[in-house]
Amino acid sequence: MEIACNVTRQAPIAAELVNLATPRWRQGRPVRPREPKQLASAFAELVGVHTGAAVRAVPDAGERLGALAGGLRHALLAEDAGGRAAGVNALIERYGSRPYLTEDVGQPFHLHFHGSGETVIESLGGEFATAIALIIDGYGADRFGQCQAERCEAVYVDLTRNGSRRYCSTQCTARAKSAAYRSKTPKTTGATAPAATKRWLEATWPFIAEHLPPAPASVLEIGCGRFGGFVPALQLAGYQALGVDPEAPQRGPYQRGTFEEYEPPTPVHAIVACTSLHHVTDLHDVLDHVESALQPGGVFIVVEWAHERFDEATATWCFDRLANDSETGWLLRHRELWNASGHDWSSYIAAWSVHERMHAGHEITRALRSRFQTRFLGEGPYFFSDLDNVSETDEQDAIDTGQIQATGIRYVGHKPR
Ligand SMILES: [Zn+2]
Repeated sequence: MEIACNVTRQAPIAAELVNLATPRWRQGRPVRPREPKQLASAFAELVGVHTGAAVRAVPDAGERLGALAGGLRHALLAEDAGGRAAGVNALIERYGSRPYLTEDVGQPFHLHFHGSGETVIESLGGEFATAIALIIDGYGADRFGQCQAERCEAVYVDLTRNGSRRYCSTQCTARAKSAAYRSKTPKTTGATAPAATKRWLEATWPFIAEHLPPAPASVLEIGCGRFGGFVPALQLAGYQALGVDPEAPQRGPYQRGTFEEYEPPTPVHAIVACTSLHHVTDLHDVLDHVESALQPGGVFIVVEWAHERFDEATATWCFDRLANDSETGWLLRHRELWNASGHDWSSYIAAWSVHERMHAGHEITRALRSRFQTRFLGEGPYFFSDLDNVSETDEQDAIDTGQIQATGIRYVGHKPR
């Protein structure tokens, strides 16, 4: 069945109203419920000048929109098809949807289903309820859902041909893919994880330790991962340590969640971020948060990766040094995906970094240098812990002799006093 074009236009607006009004989490961040006035003006922005002005003219628009959003959410997310149909029928009845044909200037007749209540909001309620009813009729009752990404309660309407949608937005699609990708890397999981992780942490710890203020200073690690990152070593060295990560260990000095949503009770003396910044959604948001979480003069220690320097010679050098029996790991996955892609390395890796929405190394260092007083900035090895029988020194030698690029970044900066 061909669905009236007005329906495909209304349904996403209905979903967006639900998402403005109801989620407590959206795209990985906690959301404060909007006051009715804020809800009305956010929604008015969404619906164009004419309808927006009509919405703003309704004195209690926010309350009315809140009620409509609640009803829509209830209908869209009801457990089964019967529940969804019943929820939509109740909305059609409540808002008094009434079909009639309209001819806009220069357009053929099209069908509207304005509701028949007091204000433009009831009118829209009728449109939204009928739009959803027609989607259920034309596509089925499973074309709605709550975003499947972590920490997101937004709803979506799926108008794709094959009904494949699972996320509310491209941001959440990227977050979910990046989480799945990270969970496949040997740094965070899998049978081989502890050995590679241990090698990485042991090799990187001296750099961290060298730049920390003396113990017992307070140190926060951003993105400590499911094994706790440097937190155990920090504690052993006498620091007051805390690791923040959505997958942080359940027990011990850890906080589960993203760094952006974590508020330290008092500013800390030092923050460590080890290969976590290139994944974040909004680098500047995170750095704002680092600045506010640090004491004046506090130190920010960063270990990062410059994906833009991961060239073909470097990749091949790594691929030749993967363990023979390795079945998982992010480098192996690159080797397989690249072989399957049929592209040359540079277009393969460029497409991958865009797809993963990764921040480039030069972008990260530029942002760091513009905010902090830089004490150290260096390049060096990055891959050795994921390779078979390759030490940090081996990788440094390959860098020094020009066989591969230095893709590791190390940075130390102070928050201005
Ligand atoms: Zn989402």
